[in-house]
Amino acid sequence: MNFFFDFERSELARAFDPPFRATQLYKSVYQRWLDNFELMTDIPRELRTSLAEQWNIQLPPVHRRFDSIDGTRRYLVRLEDGELAETVFIPESNRNTICISSQVGCALACTFCLTGQLGLTRNLTAGEILTQAMVAQRDNLSWDERDSFNIVMMGMGEPLHNYDNVMKSLRILHDEEGLNMSMSRITLSTAGMLPALERLAVEPLIPNLAISLTGATNTKRDTLMPINRKYPIEQLVDAVRRFPVKHRQRVTFEYVLMKGITDSPQDAHSLARLLRGLPAKVNLIPLNEAEELGYARPSDESVDRFRQILLDHRIDTFVRKNRGNDISAACGQLKKKWADTEIIPLR
Ligand code: SF4
Repeated sequence: MNFFFDFERSELARAFDPPFRATQLYKSVYQRWLDNFELMTDIPRELRTSLAEQWNIQLPPVHRRFDSIDGTRRYLVRLEDGELAETVFIPESNRNTICISSQVGCALACTFCLTGQLGLTRNLTAGEILTQAMVAQRDNLSWDERDSFNIVMMGMGEPLHNYDNVMKSLRILHDEEGLNMSMSRITLSTAGMLPALERLAVEPLIPNLAISLTGATNTKRDTLMPINRKYPIEQLVDAVRRFPVKHRQRVTFEYVLMKGITDSPQDAHSLARLLRGLPAKVNLIPLNEAEELGYARPSDESVDRFRQILLDHRIDTFVRKNRGNDISAACGQLKKKWADTEIIPLR
């Protein structure tokens, strides 16, 4: 059985005769939310029967959903082979955010991230990546609100480590006969996989870019993010400098603040120096503590002090709100936690 969501419309057009069936199917599945061929009455009955035997158009089931007191929802989406993809829906008054995963686990082993402790189990396919967003969309948004969300690829995994499948998922999300998502609604976050970042820079479709930095010098970053030993910070910043950023757009630098590790005024000044002249904004993320990590969250005063130093250097700086902490959905906390406890049915 083929998983429909793994295929671009151009691939389907080559598989069907006549090719316009690909567009009909895309519209039915992505725009009309149909998950049963029998409901596609614009397709001949015999063809509907044979399509149902060959193509799976069902979204993957939710293994578990965790609801935070702040409205955030964390999903464990069950994949064909029993693995789980982690997805988070974060409601906001002006726009909602859906955070999706690109891999099961992650190979990069950042020391402040629970996912990094898992190691890499496998890459997700394009369909497994994009259907996470559809699962969260359909569980949270009414038909009238269906487009009121942005996607961030900041869940489990390093997106550029699964380059081909991630790019394919972007093309499917962007397809005008599919979800028709503008790239300005999608943000890809990377820890700094340089060759892949250079490839991304010349793609026809380029999402917003976020760099997971957490450490403004090689000494700091080598310890916290082992990828830095392969692609040092000055090379990363050079690659960002060359990255095509549209007029008035900026690259987001995510910086995790850990008490006594990355939160000193000296760290803030190093960061300001590093970002000088770049079209950058900074998201400060006070660490979401977890027993397994061994780092501490800084005080509110040191977060404010850090932010003020960056603002004094005229760098737009935001402190990320702590969302979904009670359900392990906050940044760096995704780790298949509670996957095996009792299942709560969806509403
Ligand atoms: S921070 Fe991102 S790149 Fe680093 S281990 Fe976690 S998921 Fe992987």
